[in-house]
This record gives sequence, structure tokens and C-alpha cells, in this order.
Amino acid sequence: MAVTETASDFTYSKMRGIVVFLTAFIKQRKIGLNDFIQKLVSNPQICQHPDVCVFLQMDQNQPDETEAYCNYRTSLGSEEFDLSTSCSLKPSDFDYLRIIGKGSFGKVLLAKHKETEKYFAVKVLQKKMILKKKEQKHIMAERSVLLKNMKHPFLVGLHYSFQTTDKLYFVLDYVNGGELFYHLQREHVFLEPRARFYAAEIASALGYLHALHIVYRDLKPENILLDSQGHIVLTDFGLCKEGVEPNGTTSTFCGTPEYLAPEVLEKQAYDRTVDWWCLGSVLYEMLYGLPPFYSRNTAEMYNNILNRPLQLKPYVSNSAQELLEGLLQKDRVQRLGAKNDFLELKFHSFFSPINWDDLMAKKIAPPFVPTVSGPTDLQHFDPEFTQQPVPTSIASSPEDFLITASAREAAEAFLGFSYVPPVDDTCL
Ligand code: AMP
Repeated sequence: MAVTETASDFTYSKMRGIVVFLTAFIKQRKIGLNDFIQKLVSNPQICQHPDVCVFLQMDQNQPDETEAYCNYRTSLGSEEFDLSTSCSLKPSDFDYLRIIGKGSFGKVLLAKHKETEKYFAVKVLQKKMILKKKEQKHIMAERSVLLKNMKHPFLVGLHYSFQTTDKLYFVLDYVNGGELFYHLQREHVFLEPRARFYAAEIASALGYLHALHIVYRDLKPENILLDSQGHIVLTDFGLCKEGVEPNGTTSTFCGTPEYLAPEVLEKQAYDRTVDWWCLGSVLYEMLYGLPPFYSRNTAEMYNNILNRPLQLKPYVSNSAQELLEGLLQKDRVQRLGAKNDFLELKFHSFFSPINWDDLMAKKIAPPFVPTVSGPTDLQHFDPEFTQQPVPTSIASSPEDFLITASAREAAEAFLGFSYVPPVDDTCL
């Protein structure tokens, strides 16, 4: 009997050992394969080889990040600079010129790539802050959304992402026409054709994200930028929810108070129609100068969102009022877009002056062109940010070279963040 017990103990611990070994082995192989694929797609010649493309597109129905990346890279024009051909980008490859914005986890800086002298917006996030707030899923979602969205004219493009032991870096298109919010605040309201143009570009970007099963969730004027020609660029994918199927729902509470849809406020399940509510809120604010249901008292505003009927003053057109009523419908099932998503907006009378093909091809002249003399002209950014000194730790931090236990934990949490891990961090 005693012998049998010892034998079963032995077998159990042996089995456990094998399982632990196999789990570690599989994990290691997965990391190895990931690294291999990342190296593969970072080389334009290899990436374009038919066998490699076949390998990367094995699952045609579920395009993965590497495929999106491969497609993006092969579609780049020859004179367009592609940072991703450089396999070991690191913070010190850039000159950080100014802080141009701040988000919840870090700063956005105007940066010049030293070698090519090209300008980028570099978003630098502190891993510690993200881990503290248990937000790494959102950040990884942002990265993966940015990787997927490269081909839409009104979504910010990601050129590269890399990490040091304490920070994550996103190298993004530099968009310097300023936040829509900045222009709206200065002008108080926009005339209808201008509001329509912005709403149409935003709606087409949201429709595109929905087609990829992504809900944006956090549409608000601060996340809507204008490029130097006056076109919309949506940024900040930190709150995006990936993998929401057309009729799928999710229930995490996030978003900006003024634009929260009733179902989000009530912590009920929500779906892609939450974005059409947010678009309604932004359109309302563009036309009326304040968000719908606005009150200085937050509790009252929440109550208004949930219970107060929408009040539309008559000085906007009937079609605009009709569209707002459809988008700001409290019951998401009745909301415009609930059935056929973007198509329902596309064919709404408010948008009848819009030729959607021309819009997508950026052939419609923007109603307002921000005056920018060049990349270093920061007049459209808030001086509250641009006048702050750039911390030297952004370009290099001594702790980048120390592998501490917490750094290892952080690295685990952000495994797969970088396209190609910089040389400094290969041990992470
Ligand atoms: P985010 O953390 O993405 O919300 O960014 C914070 C702020 O930084 C935004 O509201 C913008 O003012 C600015 N910003 C973000 N991304 C860019 C970009 N690609 N180009 C220029 N400014 C940006």
C-alpha cells in the first residue's frame, strides 16, 4: 500500500514536472515563432516573396497582425519612409522636440528621426502606470488596432512600436492641424456643411473599424485631430474593444462622461451602436456648441443622459435634427445604425450632399485648412503642453539597461508589443 502511494506521488509529481516543462517549452516556441515572423516581415524583400506571403496569409478569413503589417509594408510607396526597415529602433534614435499632448498613461511628443529627419508623433507610455491601473489589455488592444488600421485615410497610422524596460513607444503619423476640440472651442459652433464633412469622415472611419469587429468607444473631440489639409484623423485606440462581432456585446465601463451612452452608464451590455451615440454627441456639440444633455453637475448630466428627452433647438436643418434623433436614441436597439451599421448613416438625408467615394479618396476639399507653416509650427497645440520641458528620460533612461524583477513582470505583460524588439531589450 505504502509502495503504491509513493508510486502514485512519484507519478503525479513527474506528470506535473512534464506539464510545467511542456508549458514552458510551448511558451518559448511561441515567442520564438513570433520573433521569427516579426523578423520575416521586417524585411521588404523577404516579405514580398510569394511563399512568405502564402505563409503569412494561411488563414485568409482571419487576417492577423503580421499579415496586416506585411500588406502595409508592401503597399508603401518607394519614396515614403518606413521606419520598420530599421530593425533596432530605440528611444535615442529620435530627437524629442516638444510635448504636444497628454493621455492617461503618458505623453505624446513631436519627435524627429535623427537619421532621416522625418517628423513623427511619439506616444510614450509608462508601463508602471498601465500595470497599476491593470490596463495592459487596453494598451495591447491599441497597438493591435493601430496595426490593423493602417489603410484607412482617417485613422492615424502606426509606423513602429518598441519598448524599453519601463516604457512603451508608439511611433505615429504626426498630425499637426490641432484637435477638433481646439477649433470648436475657438469658433463655438461649426456651420452645417463643415460639421457634415467632419461627421462623414468620422462615420466612415467608425464603419471601417466596425467591419473589423472593433468598437472605438471613446469618440470625443480631443481624440479627433485635423491634419495639415483639414482632414479628420482619429487617434487614441486605448479604449477600443476588439473582437466585438456585429451583434456581440461587451460591458466594461469606460469613456468620457459627456459622451457616455445610456447603456454604458447603466453598466449594461453594449455593442458597436455605442459609437453611433458618441458620433451623435460630437455632431450635436459641433452644431450647438455644447454636448447634448450637458450639465455642470455630473450627477445631473448622467440623469439627463438616462432620462431627459433630447431637446433640439430649431436653428439646425430638419435632416440634421432627424439624424441627431436617430443617433441619440437612448434605446440602442432603436438607434440609427443598429441594423445595418454605417450603411444606415451613409444613406441618411443629412449626408446626401456627400459623395462617399470622393470622401474616401480625399477628393472633397476640406471646409477649413489649418494654417501651419511647417512641422515645427505648433500653434494648434495647447501651450499648456508645448511649453513644458521635454523630460530627458524619454530619449534614454539608465534603468532601460537594468533587468529588475518588476521590469521582467512588465515585459511579460507586454510580450509581443514591439514589431521587432530593439537590441537593448532582447533579454526582456
Ligand atoms: P492620446 O493619449 O492618444 O489621447 O493623445 C493625447 C493627445 O496628444 C491628443 O489629444 C492629441 O492632442 C495629441 N496627439 C495624439 N496623437 C497624436 C498624433 N498622432 N499627432 C499629433 N498629436 C497627437
